[in-house]
Amino acid sequence: MQLRLYDTLTKEKRPFTPLDSDNVRMYACGPTVYDFAHIGNGRAAIVFDVLFRVLRHRYGADHVTYVRNITDVDDKINVRAARDYPGVPLNDAIRKVTETTYQQYQDDVTALGCLAPTVQPRATEHIPEMRAIIERLVAGGFAYAAEDHVLFSPQAMNAANSVMPRYGALSRRSLDEMIAGARVDVAPYKRDNTDFVLWKPSKPGEPSWPSPAGITVEGRPGWHIECSAMAWKHLGEKFDIHGGGIDLVFPHHENELAQTCCAFHSDRMANVWMHNGFLQLESEKMSKSTGNFFTIREMLADWPGEVLRLSMLKTHYRSPLDWTTKGAEESARTLDDWYAIAADADAGEPSPALTEALYDDLNTAQAMAVLHGLRNAAASGGERERGEFAASLRLLGFLSVSAADWKGRKQQASGIDAGQVDRLLADRAAARARKDFKESDRIRDELAAMGVVIKDGKDAEGKPVTTWEIA
Ligand code: AMP
Ligand code: ZN
Repeated sequence: MQLRLYDTLTKEKRPFTPLDSDNVRMYACGPTVYDFAHIGNGRAAIVFDVLFRVLRHRYGADHVTYVRNITDVDDKINVRAARDYPGVPLNDAIRKVTETTYQQYQDDVTALGCLAPTVQPRATEHIPEMRAIIERLVAGGFAYAAEDHVLFSPQAMNAANSVMPRYGALSRRSLDEMIAGARVDVAPYKRDNTDFVLWKPSKPGEPSWPSPAGITVEGRPGWHIECSAMAWKHLGEKFDIHGGGIDLVFPHHENELAQTCCAFHSDRMANVWMHNGFLQLESEKMSKSTGNFFTIREMLADWPGEVLRLSMLKTHYRSPLDWTTKGAEESARTLDDWYAIAADADAGEPSPALTEALYDDLNTAQAMAVLHGLRNAAASGGERERGEFAASLRLLGFLSVSAADWKGRKQQASGIDAGQVDRLLADRAAARARKDFKESDRIRDELAAMGVVIKDGKDAEGKPVTTWEIA
């Protein structure tokens, strides 16, 4: 069975052949750590986690390197640090913001069922690599220093007669059109209005490092160079897959590709470029200013992480995803059913129909249809079918807890105290035993008001038992 992936650069779905099948290398752009991540960021984390899991399944868990970076130098971080820690020296405040936000992000995406990437490099720990790439670009005539900045020149890149791709190839933009359409009030230190920043001087008190290109004042990197440096350090000059959200195609990935290919005189940075579509809320763009906005943390207060994960995977990763509460409720019911059938099954192998769907450019929407079929086979079949269903769910990152824990977690999330329910049920049983049906009905109503539905039945020996669940 072939693995095929859609490449944004060539706009086609192609068979995937790793450069080195002993070490398949993927990079995904991670968060800028200044605030809680929103569920759109969560979608990106889940999509590339599914890719990581599929590659591990195909090439072996020890033969895949997944790098997801942490952007810990950024204006937004500086602003947040000054606001949240007034009086604290800026660099200390920045460290507090990035440390806390980094930990929140880890906790959030772990709750969404994402495996830890192999490496999570921080931009601030890769300044020497950034400087080295910048020096190469200056030496090659692709970048220049001006007024303590270093600028990359897309026009120099496209003038070079070389193996490098043309600037604009990834985002299908023409440099000539960009030149024509660029703003006129361009920064004075830029030779051309399409030039972008590789390095800039730091303001007093801001994080700063020794500058490249003979600049004597200290400075800090531009955003794009960070990812070129971290990918180079951990995956080499050329690697297999580079990913991120669709918003990153231009300018971020276009510029990363330009920097890396020009620095190393190569034709490609990554063999495949993958981009997830955007998530929107109830058919509206997610936006902080209009209040149409949710963090992963807020969502996790209402739903178990696997419910959020399932809701995301019902849509193909390249399509826009419309988040709805109705969809999440449906996912919660589906997972209750799946847990009841499969959580305690013996280990099996994932179904070939499932891997076939995933090998077709991570077609998780098709995978859902396969899972529903496997579910029916497991419900009416034996251990083998249940094992296959369970292994299929696990390949996608579901069934992370036992059936009992799943039920317990749901009770916790609903705020229902299982101990209190059991006490009320014991009182009700006692009332029924003494034929006080008024009291037993009152207790039933009290439980119903709490959101608990009870069912009276008989156990194997014919003794009356009452089971309960959350409405
Ligand atoms: P950021 O921290 O904003 O740079 O984003 C981290 C990752 O989340 C990037 O891969 C973004 O492309 C992705 N992302 C941001 N917003 C959304 C959204 N609404 N839907 C899907 N992915 C998003
Ligand atoms: Zn990046």
